[in-house]
Amino acid sequence: MAIPEEIINEIKYRNDIETVMAPYINLKRRGKNLVGLCPFHNEKTPSFTVYPENGSFYCFGCGVGGDVFSFVRQIENLDYIDAVKLLAERSGITLPQDGYDDSMQKLKNTIYEINRETARFYHSYLMSPEGKWALDYLTGRGLSISTIKHFGLGAAPDGWDNLIKHLKSLGYTIPDMIQANVVGKSQRGTYYDRFRKRVMFPIINIRGKIIGFSGRAMPGEDKMGGKYVNTSDTPVYKKSENLFGMNFAKNHCDERVILVEGNMDVISLHQAGFENAVAALGTSFTDEQAKLLSRYTKEIVLIMDSDVAGQKAARRAGEILGNTGIDVRVVLLPDGKDPDEYIKKNGAARFKALLEGAVSEIEYKLLTAVEGIDVSVDDGKLQYLAKAANIIAESNDVMTRDLYIGRLSEKYGVSRTALQDKVNELRRRNHKQREKREFDEIVRPKFDRADVNPEKRLYPAATAAEETVIAILWQHPDFYDTATERLLPENMITVVNRRIYKALCECISSGRNPDLSYFGEMLSSNEMGYLSALANSEKGDKNALIVLKDSIKVILDEGLKKKSGDTKNMSADEWAQNLQKIIESKQKGK
Ligand SMILES: [Zn+2]
Repeated sequence: MAIPEEIINEIKYRNDIETVMAPYINLKRRGKNLVGLCPFHNEKTPSFTVYPENGSFYCFGCGVGGDVFSFVRQIENLDYIDAVKLLAERSGITLPQDGYDDSMQKLKNTIYEINRETARFYHSYLMSPEGKWALDYLTGRGLSISTIKHFGLGAAPDGWDNLIKHLKSLGYTIPDMIQANVVGKSQRGTYYDRFRKRVMFPIINIRGKIIGFSGRAMPGEDKMGGKYVNTSDTPVYKKSENLFGMNFAKNHCDERVILVEGNMDVISLHQAGFENAVAALGTSFTDEQAKLLSRYTKEIVLIMDSDVAGQKAARRAGEILGNTGIDVRVVLLPDGKDPDEYIKKNGAARFKALLEGAVSEIEYKLLTAVEGIDVSVDDGKLQYLAKAANIIAESNDVMTRDLYIGRLSEKYGVSRTALQDKVNELRRRNHKQREKREFDEIVRPKFDRADVNPEKRLYPAATAAEETVIAILWQHPDFYDTATERLLPENMITVVNRRIYKALCECISSGRNPDLSYFGEMLSSNEMGYLSALANSEKGDKNALIVLKDSIKVILDEGLKKKSGDTKNMSADEWAQNLQKIIESKQKGK
């Protein structure tokens, strides 16, 4: 293990899993364990289980699991090393500087440094006489100097190598600058600053580190490279997992988060006192961003430009957020303004009123469904009502449905009963579809261990036996001799279990008790969940020794079957040798 084991143990000891989880999950005691609603998938009955006894957890709904490090790693979206560091910091433990070799971590640190130096460079250029063009633009858009400083805004000078020269003078190498994506390489093999003559917005993650940049072209100069140029995904930055402004908003969003389209909107909202505003980085809103938001807030207010693209984006974001269980409301800005313009013209108080009166998603859908339909003619009216009935039918609240049925029948002069019948018919149809979907989900659970161990589909019986062996040996390390006399790691049929079994044997033979933290670095998050399930299973509760021996036999038999199954491609000599091996191993097995 790369980080010394004593340190891992010390960190684990000082970070009790229940306490670490407390801010994220509401856990209730059930017997000796704790249960709660899983923060990693959407559920109504708790299947997320914490085992305080061995400091592990497992979700029976989605299969996440592991120890306190795995939890932090997944909930905060970190690497293993970063999760260890975070928990070390949390409990006041200093990690040794060179106690472990981790070149990826070193690269990441270098990228963070380059980003920080780049942001400083852009900021001081913005504040210098040469950067007046950019400062004029920002103040012209109504930003105060303190807002500009608060967000660390900057400007990239015109020219191909200003940043390159600066970073070189600080000792950074071209390959690292390219990794940070602040420098590009042309087809001719020359290097150039990626951001030129742009206003620069640093993108800061929830831990306060600069992870990338968004550069806006000056009005009228956006032909080259587009209005915005953003950092592409780097080792420290994934566009789909971050939100602009989230570093500030995370402290102000208990009640709600305001989701807007552009970085400028976020900044002017902050300046007007709405520090809970964020923007998706790039064009579309993603599942990961929804997941991030759902950890911090219960309600999202979508404010989108009233152009077609904005409404399309709003609809998509609404759908994605709907899946997370967060309340979604929508603000329609009058006269097609964006929030920035609206606040400037009407003031913060009016904007606040607009937020309070944000329409429900259904109302928003009804309002926008009318677009492109001419409702002054009968054909158009019917077309719109059909669309509207569909929207109303989606609501599960009878009062809500009744309210909109009433409004529409009045407005479009159709009978209430006719519209009611139409909605009911649609609901019956949807209900049948939903029942079928739910049935499918019950019969075929969302989480399938075969996703972690794909070979399970090929060798279901042997894989189940392998899982039993691992589970039993985990709970009864004293069976180590019995197990290893019969079953060597290479006898395991599936690759995943071979790796786990090998490490488990090493762990026990070195005198340790099996512990998930021993596997922290060698297993992926999914594999960790898989192992956590095995470690906490009840397989070893009854007749463990007999079950262990039987399971080993199943695995060995599968191995023999597998070998003889390969005989059709063997030469006569190979076949004879193979037969001999089978005979020998059968004798050994007895
Ligand atoms: Zn889950």
